Amino acid sequence: MSELQVRDLNVWYGAAQALFDVSLTVGAGELVVLQGLNGAGKSTLLQSILGLSQRHTGVIRYQNEDISDWAPHRRARAGLGFVAEDRRLFGGLTVQENLLIAARGDVAGNTARVLALFPALERMLQRRASQMSGGEQQMLAIARTLMTSPKLLLLDEPCEGIAPLLVESIRDALLALRAEGMPMLVAEQNRILADRADRALTLVSGRVAG
Ligand code: ATP
Repeated sequence: MSELQVRDLNVWYGAAQALFDVSLTVGAGELVVLQGLNGAGKSTLLQSILGLSQRHTGVIRYQNEDISDWAPHRRARAGLGFVAEDRRLFGGLTVQENLLIAARGDVAGNTARVLALFPALERMLQRRASQMSGGEQQMLAIARTLMTSPKLLLLDEPCEGIAPLLVESIRDALLALRAEGMPMLVAEQNRILADRADRALTLVSGRVAG
């Protein structure tokens, strides 16, 4: 069974069309990587799946339901988890507060799980997010999304601009999640995960290449 299916998606910003007849599938437990240069449409595609595009045509199905007309919060509640490129952390709050503010479902279980996945976070639970490095912030952003008990993860450039050692930690954490059966769609330019993906597709000027 496919978890997520996008069929013939077209998206516009005002009069400018950003995506053209894009189709893709993420199967149960699959890691699918979305490649493409700056401006190719990767973020636009992820945001459309989340229900954040203004004008679009096409169909988005999640767990065999047509969610094309669902509001973003309904998609999130149904299990779509998103880690944005800009991370959207609360800089003035601590790591622990950032985790708890998003928590839904089994809070204790989720906390134990994310700290096992990112042991570095356990050592900085009382640190403000604004006082962390970019890579540490990215770990926290992924961990915070996991606190919402998502059933499918959408990640926008999770390893972009991050020190190599932390890139390795993040990649390993994402591969561990995949080994647990978490389906994921990851937009990336830097081919950190592409070699380990079940499938990789490339967007060129808003179209799936090949
Ligand atoms: P990047 O990694 O740089 O974000 P991307 O592959 O994610 O690149 P998008 O950000 O989805 O690409 O951009 C796709 C196209 O849509 C580009 O031509 C971009 O200029 C345009 N675009 C993106 N966001 C907006 C917006 N809010 N308003 C108008 N045009 C936009």
